[in-house]
Amino acid sequence: MGARLIARLLVPNRGEIAVRIARSCREMGIVSILACAEDDRATAFARAFDEVVSLGEGDARETYLNVAKIIEAARESRADAIHPGYGFLSERKALAVACEEAGVIFVGPRPDAIELMGSKSASRALMEKLGVPVVPGYSGEDHSDSTLIRESERVGFPLLVKASAGGGGKGMKIVSCPEELPLAIESGRREALKAFGDDRLLIEKYLERPRHVEFQVFGDGEGNVIHLFERDCSIQRRHQKIIEESPAPSFSDELRARMADAAVRAAAGVRYRGAGTVEFILGRDGSFYFLEMNTRLQVEHPVTEMVLGVDLVRAQIEVAQGHPLPWGQDELKQRGHAIECRIYAEDPDNGFLPQTGEVAHYREPSGAGIRVDSGIDAGSVVSVKYDPLLSKLIAHAETRELAIARLGRALDEYRILGTRTNLPYLRRIVKHEAWGRGEVGTHFVAEHEADLTPRPVEGAAEIAAVIAASSVNAPARGGGRRALASVWDTVGDFSR
Ligand code: ADP
Repeated sequence: MGARLIARLLVPNRGEIAVRIARSCREMGIVSILACAEDDRATAFARAFDEVVSLGEGDARETYLNVAKIIEAARESRADAIHPGYGFLSERKALAVACEEAGVIFVGPRPDAIELMGSKSASRALMEKLGVPVVPGYSGEDHSDSTLIRESERVGFPLLVKASAGGGGKGMKIVSCPEELPLAIESGRREALKAFGDDRLLIEKYLERPRHVEFQVFGDGEGNVIHLFERDCSIQRRHQKIIEESPAPSFSDELRARMADAAVRAAAGVRYRGAGTVEFILGRDGSFYFLEMNTRLQVEHPVTEMVLGVDLVRAQIEVAQGHPLPWGQDELKQRGHAIECRIYAEDPDNGFLPQTGEVAHYREPSGAGIRVDSGIDAGSVVSVKYDPLLSKLIAHAETRELAIARLGRALDEYRILGTRTNLPYLRRIVKHEAWGRGEVGTHFVAEHEADLTPRPVEGAAEIAAVIAASSVNAPARGGGRRALASVWDTVGDFSR
């Protein structure tokens, strides 16, 4: 097939990832078009685009998750291609199929690869065939309660109940003994049905204190697949990532080579096209197992970009146009160390509960080796309708130690007032000695809970009150109490 030109690209997404894609379009001379909900038209991220087309009113189901409306928006705006970003419809076969039918290029893998990898059960079965290790467990066709209960005896406890269609840790339950299993199955099914419209479950052996290590891969759709090395995403809360880095700390070249080989085999097994990520769980003994493959750009892709000096969105667009892979495996070398922090509107001291509000004041850090991918600005409204991810802060330096120092400095400079964020919490992790030593694991947050919980500071209340009073008197529309809460975070954190 000859190369197909993309001159106009539609992005049915929002926030920082929309901006990220628009930037690559601008550099490539491609007209960027945002397809957004009507009430997102006047946002900071919409301003990053050349053109904006409305998906109408309503919640995400009626807008960003509505395939028909998105295809209609592509027609209306004469887009040749759609880049779905991450989240929303990025891993739904239906959008990729609808694009094919409408003669619009889908910047992503073929529909069959999305479907196969979208099912944890089906992809586990494929991996077993390809000789890629999977976590011991049961993911057979028979999803009945009685089969899951019977298989649990073979798998052993503790185990994990997972939604086959899973994502974002939804439907996932840790089960420590047989008595807990029936309830876990029941609530797992309920959550899975609600989140994915599919209540099929699988069970997996629960690994104690593992690491999450994933490989970025890229395929041309003709069977050529390369990898772009690893990301360690072990720092998580509620099975969701908050800090990611590359290279993985305390990671041997020998292990890197074995895991990279498994990742490439996994992607080549579906003649993968475009950017994808093969996720593994890494045990304390160095054994690793396939978790899942994400058939899209990941939130944490910038750490790979900074360490390798590449633009993954540009590469996605090139491959989607039928061009060969932009790099040979031997051209890709890891240089230095990059760490990303996800900045969320959430309250870490209250179960990481998502927060809402209006950003009253916003100041990004900058300087050597600092990158901020953000979708907000002063005046941005954070609502319950969407994911509470506000932005990502990435630091790159020659070594992990220098990257940590740089990240700490940049986190101290970062100011977001008007809604509570996890900035103070991230500062505490980044300054934590154990993390600094590279002691990463998915249990880090739980294990160090005491150290990561703020201690009230003498005098901080008075300082916060003074600052809040001045910011409330200013014509900020954020609301006094919320402004006070985030000023409290800032002051409380700095005064220790
Ligand atoms: P989701 O698709 O819902 O994000 P994943 O299967 O990718 O779920 O797992 C998310 C996280 O849950 C992992 O990064 C890891 O921290 C934890 N996890 C998943 N499977 C296991 C397992 N078998 N043992 C221990 N922890 C696990």
